[in-house]
Amino acid sequence: MAIDRFGRRIHYLRISLTDHCNLRCVYCMPEDQTFRPNAELMQDDEVLMLVRLFAGLGFDKFRLTGGEPTVRAHIVKLVHDIAETPGVKYLSMTTNGVLLKKLAYPLREAGLQRVNVSIDTLNSERFRRLTRWGTLDDVLGGIETAEAAGLTPIKLNAVVVRGYNEQDIVDLAALTIDKPWQMRFIEMMPFAGATELQLKQVVTADEIRSQIESEFGPLEEANNGELDGEARMYHIQGAAGEIGIISSVSAPFCAQCTRARLTADGRLRLCLLREGEVDLLTPLRAGASLDDLRQIIIDGIWQKPWGHGLADGLIPLNRVMSEIGG
Ligand code: SAM
Ligand code: SF4
Repeated sequence: MAIDRFGRRIHYLRISLTDHCNLRCVYCMPEDQTFRPNAELMQDDEVLMLVRLFAGLGFDKFRLTGGEPTVRAHIVKLVHDIAETPGVKYLSMTTNGVLLKKLAYPLREAGLQRVNVSIDTLNSERFRRLTRWGTLDDVLGGIETAEAAGLTPIKLNAVVVRGYNEQDIVDLAALTIDKPWQMRFIEMMPFAGATELQLKQVVTADEIRSQIESEFGPLEEANNGELDGEARMYHIQGAAGEIGIISSVSAPFCAQCTRARLTADGRLRLCLLREGEVDLLTPLRAGASLDDLRQIIIDGIWQKPWGHGLADGLIPLNRVMSEIGG
């Protein structure tokens, strides 16, 4: 079992399968972002070896992310092999949805259980402005196909950026009235790559909530007041779905954190918003034994920091978001 020095049992691993992406969201990376050469990324056998090691340490929940995980070569086969790994109980993916029309059924058949799809607005012009390269209809079609394929319950993620999509909060929340979806609003966080915008254009969880309430009335608490992952859960009265609000910046949930991350280049990242990492890929490639690697992971998890330091002005600048895996 992997436990940190504060007694938190860490059993959820988010894996960035690639830093590459087919979009260029303004809150995530600059338009001229350059990516790592393939040789620097974990190869399929390396991902699988690390998944086996983490599963052996009691990790049972895995999320594939990026960058955009669906642009990785052989993604369906890789999902299949991860899903088959003993100990992997929950397997989901965070995706921008652009390729889901083509991939939702094959991914479901390969053993993927659920997807979180990022969609920040239902207005096609604002969608293009936010993602720079995206077409809204591709994502809407992708969500529909994911639902039909059974990658459910569908969860949608929206980062709210002042000057880009704060006027879309109400329309996105309204999706949950008829659909049994979870619409999750995320406070924008600061990283390298787009730091100025990320710091200056945050829309806080309180503001998101009050916009929704001014349209639909008081939100009711859902999920018995428990967090779902990092989201505080609500629903609009009488709605089929739920609303999640993720307040990583204004009201962090570090005490309940059970997760660690694996970066696209094989580093164990202990907190999304701290720079500290433990290199796993270099020892793996240098022929470290499984026991040695297991010990490196256990020691790394032990050192997981209590929480992030945004309130003290500590911003992680060693990587853009897509390398870490959101
Ligand atoms: N490409 C996939 C996608 O967009 O869903 C997966 C990777 S993306 C980095 C994972 C999540 O992080 C997405 O929901 C995205 O909206 C969110 N994200 C990206 N940059 C962010 C930022 N600066 N603050 C908060 N969330 C961010
Ligand atoms: Fe790509 Fe996802 Fe980052 Fe948007 S948020 S640029 S889709 S990795």
